[in-house]
Amino acid sequence: MSEQAQGAAAERLHAVLDRMASAARRAGRDPGELTLVAVSKTRPAADLQALIDLGQHHFGENYLQEALPKIDALRPQQLAWHFIGQLQSNKTAPVAEYFDWVHTVDRLKLVQRLAAQRPFHAPPLNVCVQVKLEDEPTKGGATVSELPALLDAVARAPQLHLRGLMTLPPAETAETHQRRWFAALREVFQQMQRQHPAMDTLSMGMSGDLEAAILEGATLIRIGTALFGERLQSQA
Ligand SMILES: *Cc1c(COP(=O)(O)O)cnc(C)c1O
Repeated sequence: MSEQAQGAAAERLHAVLDRMASAARRAGRDPGELTLVAVSKTRPAADLQALIDLGQHHFGENYLQEALPKIDALRPQQLAWHFIGQLQSNKTAPVAEYFDWVHTVDRLKLVQRLAAQRPFHAPPLNVCVQVKLEDEPTKGGATVSELPALLDAVARAPQLHLRGLMTLPPAETAETHQRRWFAALREVFQQMQRQHPAMDTLSMGMSGDLEAAILEGATLIRIGTALFGERLQSQA
């Protein structure tokens, strides 16, 4: 990696960390309670290495085919890998074997398969259940009414560790509109915490709306373009 590319990576990382810190200040929250997941889909391992050298530890991937070679290549660095893509039930085995977290569990079949396929020597797989806040048929996510049964199933599986909820709201540009979606997920989260008080993760916020997410209680944000620049391929 050229010195120039390394400098650009440092600048982007510090800009994101500054945005996180000022949003946390606005919310009266401690920035130390926020986890930054660098969403590295479509990026080569060298781009990830630039961030690793700057201290970034959590990475998120959407596509297994490109994620697994990166995870293998970077294995000695003991990173934390988050699967954030749509999960098909015939593709759960590599997620259970390679990843530390999965954010897109939205049905019982996935819970059962991930639990059965998590290697017995590995620590429990951290699970966030994805919530669909409005009716978009093409989009993944459980409805609010499906949540209690799903959360119970994750919590009961010793191979899984129920961490919280995730959402991917429709793109909005105005902060007040962004905040409405995130507030809705936070309310659902608080409601579900009555049954599952150990849940500690609200996975919400991306490059365009991380401030709104932090103002509404996000504990983990997933950032791609603001860290790596615009994606070359247009993948969802
Ligand atoms: C791509 C992606 C992100 C990152 O989005 P940016 O707008 O590039 O920050 C976050 N979460 C999910 C689920 C994604 O697919």
